[in-house]
Amino acid sequence: MRADLHTHSHCSDGTDSPRELVRAAVGAGLDVVALTDHDVADGWPEAREAAAELGIGFLAGMEISCAHDGAGVHLLAYGLDPTHPGLTAELDRVLAGRRSRLPGVLQRLRDLGVEIDEADVRAVAGHAVSLGRPHVADALVAVGVVADRDEAFDRYLKPGRPAYVPRYGAPLHETLRLVEAAGGVSVVAHPWARGSRRVLTKNVLADLAGSGLTGVEVWHRDHTDSDHSELAALARDLDLAATGSSDYHGTGKVGHELGCHTTPADQLDRLQAAMAAARAGAR
Ligand code: AMP
Ligand code: ZN
Ligand code: FE
Ligand code: FE
Repeated sequence: MRADLHTHSHCSDGTDSPRELVRAAVGAGLDVVALTDHDVADGWPEAREAAAELGIGFLAGMEISCAHDGAGVHLLAYGLDPTHPGLTAELDRVLAGRRSRLPGVLQRLRDLGVEIDEADVRAVAGHAVSLGRPHVADALVAVGVVADRDEAFDRYLKPGRPAYVPRYGAPLHETLRLVEAAGGVSVVAHPWARGSRRVLTKNVLADLAGSGLTGVEVWHRDHTDSDHSELAALARDLDLAATGSSDYHGTGKVGHELGCHTTPADQLDRLQAAMAAARAGAR
């Protein structure tokens, strides 16, 4: 039983179509795959249909761009109704924030002598409904300024680099409530990746566990081995489901192949039981 619960298609910043992603999941020997694009559900119908045809389990999910204490936090949500009015209003704010950040990023790049415009970004973004820094990175690759996304982030786009511009994130606690109201369950994504341990301390995770959080993504490429064991123990202590996943982005992220981390069967069972309960209690 192999379940990969965190992947991205070209509806956000992955490079596979939802159908290609599901086909790749079958090829990787997975039994269950979740599609969790950033802030959009647009890939669900195609992925669901492909999964039914190819005989693999499918979980509809989303990675919601949240903010807590001035820092970005990614919240995975599963089984939520993407038409819930409160939720869609919040997601619209996040998507608007993604779009409105772009001119500032491009201006900063121009100040550094790097000339790309919105049309260049749109051209590489293709099917993306959710626009992100990886698309700016792809535009930089296309004009030959950098070799790949990693170099674009390291030189220009990550916090502390000259073309980094912050964007709006949905308030974390409020988003937990919205996901619950929309009949879904929440799992905090890669809580200790890229320095976010400073924000998502054990105390904060304990608080979230008491505020409606269902699980924590324990096994992830951006965690160290000791993060894995500490987070697994913390999940046990806090009675949270512990998930593992690839955070696959197609060719957009190296080292995140489908199934490189998976979620144990008993933890998937827990998550699915919580999803059934959430669906029953949705408002
Ligand atoms: P944004 O949505 O604009 O905040 O961009 C975040 C996305 O950029 C996430 O999906 C990350 O996977 C991706 N990302 C962050 N750092 C890097 C990096 N160094 N190389 C490639 N992708 C990255
Ligand atoms: Zn991404
Ligand atoms: Fe993430
Ligand atoms: Fe992700």
